[in-house]
Amino acid sequence: MAGMADFSIDLAAADDETIRSALAHAEVPALLPALAWASGDLSLVPDHLRPDLSVLMDPTAGLSPDQQAEARELAFAALRRLRAAGPSAPAPPDAGTLRRLLTFTAGGADIEPYLELLREELNLSEDLRTPTWRKEELAPDRPFRVAVIGAGMSGLVAAHRLRQAGVEVVVLEKNDDVGGTWWENTYPGCRVDVSNHFYSYSFAQRPDWPEHFSSQPVLLDYFRRVADECGLRPLIRFGTEVTSVELDESTMTWTLQVVTAAGEEDTVEAHAVVSAVGQLNRPNLPDIPGLERFEGPAFHSARWDHDVDLTGKRVAVIGTGASAAQFIPEVAEVAAELTVFQRTPAWFIPTPNYHDPVEPGALWLFRNVPGYANWYRFWIFWRNVEGLMPAATVDPDWQGEQSVSQLNELVRQLLAGYLQAEFADAPELLEHVIPDYPPFAKRFIRDNGVWARTLKREDVHLVTDPIEEITADGVRTADGTVHRADVIVYGTGFKASEFLTPMKVVGRGGVDLHERWAGDARAYLGITLPGFPNFFLMYGPNTNIVVNGSITYFSECEARYIVGCIRELLATGHRAIDPRPEVHDAYNERVDAANLKMAWGVSSVNSWYKNATGRSAQNWPFSLLEYWQQTREPDLDDYELL
Ligand code: NAP
Repeated sequence: MAGMADFSIDLAAADDETIRSALAHAEVPALLPALAWASGDLSLVPDHLRPDLSVLMDPTAGLSPDQQAEARELAFAALRRLRAAGPSAPAPPDAGTLRRLLTFTAGGADIEPYLELLREELNLSEDLRTPTWRKEELAPDRPFRVAVIGAGMSGLVAAHRLRQAGVEVVVLEKNDDVGGTWWENTYPGCRVDVSNHFYSYSFAQRPDWPEHFSSQPVLLDYFRRVADECGLRPLIRFGTEVTSVELDESTMTWTLQVVTAAGEEDTVEAHAVVSAVGQLNRPNLPDIPGLERFEGPAFHSARWDHDVDLTGKRVAVIGTGASAAQFIPEVAEVAAELTVFQRTPAWFIPTPNYHDPVEPGALWLFRNVPGYANWYRFWIFWRNVEGLMPAATVDPDWQGEQSVSQLNELVRQLLAGYLQAEFADAPELLEHVIPDYPPFAKRFIRDNGVWARTLKREDVHLVTDPIEEITADGVRTADGTVHRADVIVYGTGFKASEFLTPMKVVGRGGVDLHERWAGDARAYLGITLPGFPNFFLMYGPNTNIVVNGSITYFSECEARYIVGCIRELLATGHRAIDPRPEVHDAYNERVDAANLKMAWGVSSVNSWYKNATGRSAQNWPFSLLEYWQQTREPDLDDYELL
C-alpha cells in the first residue's frame, strides 16, 4: 500500500480485448496524463482533449463522445506500446512535464500555485512529506516525548510522521483498536461519502479500493493496515482514555491523567501533546422531553446496538443527516414499519456510483497503469474541490433567502430539480424534501436514488411535525399524534462544538481551556492555543471543510506543521512554543470574516457547522491551497519560544 500501486501485474498478459474493455471505464482526464507519464509521450495530452470544468456536475467533464472515443484510442495504442516494452518504473516527472500533465487534468487552469502541493499529493515516486530531519541529528541527548491522544485518522498520521523523524511517541487510544470514527460507527450502511481515492493518505494510496465510496469495514481495514505497515501499533496504548492534561510550567512538560477500560488510573508525562480526538465522536442525544421514559431499546447511530434485531419491528428514527441517510434505507429493508422524523431536509448530490463496486475494468486500469490511481486522486481533488468554492461564496448584492449568489442559485435549481425528478410520483413527499436554505449551508448528502425509493415505501412514514416528547411507547409530535415504536434510533449527530470534551486541559497560569473557550473554541490554524505551549490540535476549530476536500488532507497538513514546530524546538533548544495571542486573534478575525462570506456562515439553518454563539467554529472558509501554504512550516514570528 505504499505511495504507488503494484502495477504491470497483468498488462504483459492482457489481450487487446481486455485492454479495450478496461478502457471503457477509464476517466480520460486522469488516464491520459498517467499514460503520458508512464510512456514519456506528451502527445497523449493534447489540448483539444482537456476536460472542460466550467459545466457544473457534468459527468463527462465537457468531453463529447467523439473526444472520449479519440482519447480511448490514444490510450489503447499507448497501452499496447507499454505492453510491448515490458514493465518499467517511470522516473519522477520533471517540473515542466508535471506542469503540462497537471494543466491537462485541470482543464487548462493555472496550476502554478498548486504545483508543489500537487506533487506531494500525487506521490508518484516518493513520499515528499516525510520529515527531512531526524531527532538524533538535531538533539540526540534531549529527552523529548510526544503524547498523541487518539489513534483515529488524524492521530495515526501524526504518530507516523513523528516516528519517521525519530521522535519518541506514545499514542493513547480509548478504544480497543485504531480507526476512530471508522471503529466507532458500525451502523448498517455506514460508508465514506468522499471518494476513497481522495479519502486516504497521500503516503498510503490504494489502487484497489473495492468501491468508489467504500463501506465502514473497508475503511477500518485500511486504517488498521496503515497502522501495521507504518509500525505504529507498538506505540499505541489501547483502552486508555485521557481524562486530563496539565502543564507543569516549571519544566514545561505535560502530565496526562489516563484511565483504562478496567478503571485503573495512571499518568503519562510528555514534552508535547497532540490532541487528535476528532470533532464528530461525542454523540448528541437530543434535548427532547421524555427521552428516558421510552420502554423499548433506544440507541444513537454511533453506538449501534447490534444485539437489537430490528427485523419486523416498528422503528422510529430521529434525524435525517449524513448518518441517518445511510442507515434509514437499511433499516427500512428489515423493519415492519419505519417512521422517519425529519426536522430539516438535506440537499442531496446525485451520485449514481455511490454504492457501486469499482468496475473490474477500472480496477484493472488502477492496477496496471502506473500512476493512474494517483492521477485519479488528483482528478477528484481538482474537480470536486476548489472548483466548488465559488458556488458557496456569498454575493453581497444577491437578493433572496434560498441562495447566496447566482452560481449558488444555479446549484440550488440543479439539486431541486434532482429531488423533483426523484419524488415526481410522490407529491405529498416532495413538498417536505426540498430545502428552503441555500446549498452549502448544511452538509450535502450523496444519493443514488435510494433516498426517494426508501421514503416512498409503504412501510416508511416521513414525519415533519415537530417532536414534542418521547413517550413510553413512541414519539409524540406537536399535532398530538403518538407514533408508536418498538425501537428508537437517534441519528442526531455529535457535539461538534464541544471540542476536546470531556477532557480537562490546564495550561499556563492554571488556565482551564474550556473556561477560556467558554463554548466558543478557537485556535491558531486550528492547531495551537495561546497559553498552552506544545499542545497541538488536529481537526481542531475551523479545520472542517464543507465543499472542498477530505479531512485526511487537513490531517496531513496539521501533522506536518506540528512536526515542524517540534523540529524548531529540537533545533533551537527551546523548551516550548506558544502562539502569540495577537497572532491567534488576528487569524480568528480573518477566519470569522471569511466564514461570513460563505453560505454556511450567513445561513441561519440548523447545522453542526456553528456553535451555540452562532459562530462557524468548525469550518475552514478558504481554499485547500491556503491551508497547505499556511501549515507548510511554522513561522516562528507567530510564536513565543520559551
Ligand atoms: P448531523 O448531520 O448533525 O444530523 C443530525 C440530524 O439529527 C439532523 O437531521 C438534525 O436535524 C437531527 N436532530 C438533531 N437534534 C434534533 C432534535 N432535537 N429533534 C429533531 N431532530 C434533531 O449528524 P450526522 O448525520 O451523524 O452527521 C454528522 C457529520 O458526520 C456529517 O455531517 C459528516 O461530516 C459526518 N458523517 C460522515 C459520513 C460519511 O462520510 N459517510 C457519514 C455520517 C456522518 P437538523 O438538521 O434540523 O439539525
